[in-house]
Amino acid sequence: MNEGLPDSIREKLKILKVKYVQSLPERIESLAAALQKLEESEAFQKETFFAAQNEAHKLVGSGQTFGFTDLSTVARGIEMVMETCSKEERTLTIDEKNQVQRLFQELALFSERTQIEIGVVTPEGGQREGTMKQDSKSILLWRSNGLYLEDLKEQIGFFGFPVEIVESIDAIRGFLDRDLSVVLVVGIDPLLESPSILEQISLLKNGSNSEKLKILYLSEKDDFKTRLMAVRHGGDSFLSSPFDIPRLIEKIDSLFNGSNQVPYHVMIIDDDPEQISYYAMILQQAGMVTSVVTDPTNVMKVLVEEKPELILMDMYMPNCKGEELAALIRQQEAFVGIPIVYFSVEKDREKQIAAIRDGGGDDFISKPIKPEHLVTMVKTRAARIRQLRYFMERDSLTGLLNHTQLHIRLVSELDRARRLGTQIVYAMIDLDHFKKINDEFGHLSGDHVLRILSRLFVERLRKTDSLGRYGGEEFGIVLFNTNLENGMRVLNELRESFSRIRHRGEGKDFYVTFSCGIADFPRFSTAEALIEAADKALYLAKNQGRNRVIPAP
Ligand code: GH3
Ligand code: MG
Ligand code: MG
Repeated sequence: MNEGLPDSIREKLKILKVKYVQSLPERIESLAAALQKLEESEAFQKETFFAAQNEAHKLVGSGQTFGFTDLSTVARGIEMVMETCSKEERTLTIDEKNQVQRLFQELALFSERTQIEIGVVTPEGGQREGTMKQDSKSILLWRSNGLYLEDLKEQIGFFGFPVEIVESIDAIRGFLDRDLSVVLVVGIDPLLESPSILEQISLLKNGSNSEKLKILYLSEKDDFKTRLMAVRHGGDSFLSSPFDIPRLIEKIDSLFNGSNQVPYHVMIIDDDPEQISYYAMILQQAGMVTSVVTDPTNVMKVLVEEKPELILMDMYMPNCKGEELAALIRQQEAFVGIPIVYFSVEKDREKQIAAIRDGGGDDFISKPIKPEHLVTMVKTRAARIRQLRYFMERDSLTGLLNHTQLHIRLVSELDRARRLGTQIVYAMIDLDHFKKINDEFGHLSGDHVLRILSRLFVERLRKTDSLGRYGGEEFGIVLFNTNLENGMRVLNELRESFSRIRHRGEGKDFYVTFSCGIADFPRFSTAEALIEAADKALYLAKNQGRNRVIPAP
């Protein structure tokens, strides 16, 4: 579809398309909610039909934009039924009801399928396979002396990354041709004596597909010279011994994520379409995603649907002043924290400050704007708000959701499951004899174990699952669209892997296990009931000897 476009643009379109697919479940749920309202109202109501028609219409248009013609056609089917009823001012006939239901099922299935295709999730529900991900990324270990490769391979493998040992440059090229991203792990010490191999490795960084490759050098030494050699030979990251697994996994993880960090999303509000295009272009060229609004009355709709992280707003628009619009946005609880930056020709600092004070904007950019200035300003603010949100919602040791956020997530996932008619599994996990681990190996080693467990969960579970730390050595997991049997299997796989991960204590290696209790929705129908049942099952798991997963009876 995008042939003939430069690579950079094609890459951006790909990101947008992925983002669109990721937003599909939500879009389809909005349609489901609108259809549900139709179902509930007995008499004909214009607004209800219009709302449903509008939701369907959005799918028709957006599906078309991103090249999903099938999706668009199916959604158009629903839209047409709504249109007809609206025109004739009547409710749905039985036949029409069935037709809409069938079309909706098709949409939901289409969404599921595309999620799997782009690798957002692995197959769901009844077909939920094991927890090993099939993402097309690989870790390659360069065969060299001095590293216990087989052991390293096994330990990394527990986290769900595909790992291979390679011994030729051509083999690496093979992976680069195939996979979306590759991390090459190289023990640099023995290669310092045979620089030609190092040269060849670093040449990979200039070859085709080089942007997919990240190189991590390992060394027994931590001196300046070795680090310099690593940097000179294309090293993206460097780790000196001891090569403990959590540090290694963290490095590898950040190398993978660094290459596909979600772009910042900025909303631009200006009544002048020309100006909007100009700002949008500048931001897009800097790798950001933009939503644009020329009519202030559309702002709330776009805000809710697109969820931008920052708003750039013109100070003076014909129907509505910037600070009024800012105040209006701020009155909605969900958007209290979103940064709003005005741009305007206003040079008077007093007036600028007044606008910030009265409307609750955060800053000013004066027109005309230097592109670099705009980009820097937006980037630093978006980064800060992301970081802030991260700290507010996450546990600082493990980066998982905190107790409150996990609970919020569980409640909203239950709502979602009810609407879509799917199942959920809730798991509660508690480490075994963790007090003893702390006593014997020190609190720091204990913290390490908690981080490894979190890493393992993050790497092995799907994006649609939610993970949280209850506090202490207790964790909670929400497995979306999963039944009890599959939930048992997934948790048992994790338990098995975790028990085989080696931890490094002071002078001595050790292993840790966990116990787990799980409960399933709809058998347990509220968040409270699920938590209580999982907690009881966890208690049974402890009593029956630990290191096991027990379902709620
Ligand atoms: P059980 O198998 O019955 O769960 O035994 P346990 O020792 O794990 O359970 P207990 O609840 O008696 O002890 C939990 C211990 O977890 C107490 C505390 O030392 C440790 N712990 C809690 N939070 C942290 C933490 O953030 N870091 C570390 N290192 N240890 C923690
Ligand atoms: Mg405990
Ligand atoms: Mg415990």
